[in-house]
Amino acid sequence: MKVLVTGSAGFIGFHVTKRLLDEGIEVVSVDNINDYYDIKLKESRLKQLEPYPAHKFIELDLADRDGVANLFEQEKITHVIHLAAQAGVRYSIENPHAYVDSNLIGHVNILEGCRHNKIEHLIYASSSSVYGLNKKMPFSETDSVDHPVSLYAATKKANELLSHTYSHLYGLPTTGLRFFTVYGPWGRPDMSPILFATAIKNQQPLKVFNHGNMSRDFTYIDDIVEGIFRLIPKQPEQVDGWSVEEGKSNESSAPYRVYNIGCGKPVKLLKFIECIEHSMGGTTEKIYMDMQPGDVEATWANTNNLFDAVDYTPKVDVEAGVKRFSEWFNDYYR
Ligand code: NAD
Repeated sequence: MKVLVTGSAGFIGFHVTKRLLDEGIEVVSVDNINDYYDIKLKESRLKQLEPYPAHKFIELDLADRDGVANLFEQEKITHVIHLAAQAGVRYSIENPHAYVDSNLIGHVNILEGCRHNKIEHLIYASSSSVYGLNKKMPFSETDSVDHPVSLYAATKKANELLSHTYSHLYGLPTTGLRFFTVYGPWGRPDMSPILFATAIKNQQPLKVFNHGNMSRDFTYIDDIVEGIFRLIPKQPEQVDGWSVEEGKSNESSAPYRVYNIGCGKPVKLLKFIECIEHSMGGTTEKIYMDMQPGDVEATWANTNNLFDAVDYTPKVDVEAGVKRFSEWFNDYYR
């Protein structure tokens, strides 16, 4: 087994790469180390992967079609865990092209690499944002998700549709994962946990959107990594009618799956802030603001399908997760 992880300088990609290496699996990983947020944080993550001899890092932009094709040809990869993307809901309103390049063109380049190199399984990141304005709680994979409210969400839904097509047409087994607000050590500085912790640490007023009437199914990073690890097929899958021939339709198509991967316990934003304040031993002023364009009021994952597939659902509750996150935050941002 040789796994390609994309986005290894990123939050989730770094943790997944490290876990695979700790399990003794050979990994080639890529990232374009873009400056969407602090490059030093990305470099610090990558630095921790350097001591592993079974790891090879390649700096590459996934929108580079020839670069991605060469990578697949040269590295003899068997499985792909595709986590690189232009993330962030709010940023997608200002910078639509970054999402088209990384999330659409990049995703198609990965699918093509998988198709032409008989990759055994592709796991890729989708997002809870595909549920958009869906009000049926908790969110189930079978709920209608035809109304994404941000460009970011639209690109993630497009990733699912494109992957479905490759499973069906070319027999590529794919698993899409709808992540729900992931947090933990080495997290993303553009996301609420680090923004909240920074405001608390610096005694700055903290912006709380939708006047605090928001809840999120915060999911601790270790639970995400465990879920992904369990979803990697450890034996070659039996896929009838595997075909890499151009345009050959495949009636008995390969498995196409999409799973929610979230804690399953939504938490009010104010409660999450209180947990960070408690862990950091301080409080700060809150400024209550209106809802931001592209945001949704609540997220909540139904994880029954994930449990049926891998006998596992996220376990770390918000108190324990925030404590571990705050310890890391205090140390890193000392
Ligand atoms: P991240 O921004 O920390 O990591 C993404 C990495 O991908 C970054 O290091 C970035 O440099 C890299 N990247 C972006 N475009 C690239 C390109 N064109 N070529 C090569 N590398 C590129 O984000 P994350 O939180 O680790 O998210 C990982 C995946 O999970 C993303 O697909 C994201 O959309 C998805 N997701 C994350 C969350 C969350 O709560 N963190 C929630 C839902 C979905």
